[in-house]
Amino acid sequence: MACIFCKIIAKEIPAEILFENDSAIAILDVNPIHYGHALVIPKNHHKDFLEVPENELPGMMHAVHVVARAIVKSFDLRGFNFFSNNGTVAGQSVFHFHIHITPRYPDDNIRFVLQLKRYEGEEMKDVAAKIRASIQE
Ligand SMILES: [Zn+2]
Repeated sequence: MACIFCKIIAKEIPAEILFENDSAIAILDVNPIHYGHALVIPKNHHKDFLEVPENELPGMMHAVHVVARAIVKSFDLRGFNFFSNNGTVAGQSVFHFHIHITPRYPDDNIRFVLQLKRYEGEEMKDVAAKIRASIQE
């Protein structure tokens, strides 16, 4: 069991634990974007969001909600982000799913650099149809 998050969940290595429920644990990120940057991690090992079973998602989101509210209160924030990197191409570095919650401040200069595209002609309809066809109930 080489996974660092599994070791934290097993209490084999220390972490600043903020919150726990049946499905998830929340800890402080050791390399924060801002102080208070937290990670919500499922207690079971799943490499990314797509591998998390549906029955663990409510507990995950409950933990995100509780911890985000507490971070906002603790630092009197006007905003925060929560996000998840899934796959190397998306910047994932620990392959045990986790959701980041980080405080935001005015003029903190933290941003994705976006080059927004525009759909042309029927492209938007075609893209939506492709995704809808891939949704399996
Ligand atoms: Zn793990």
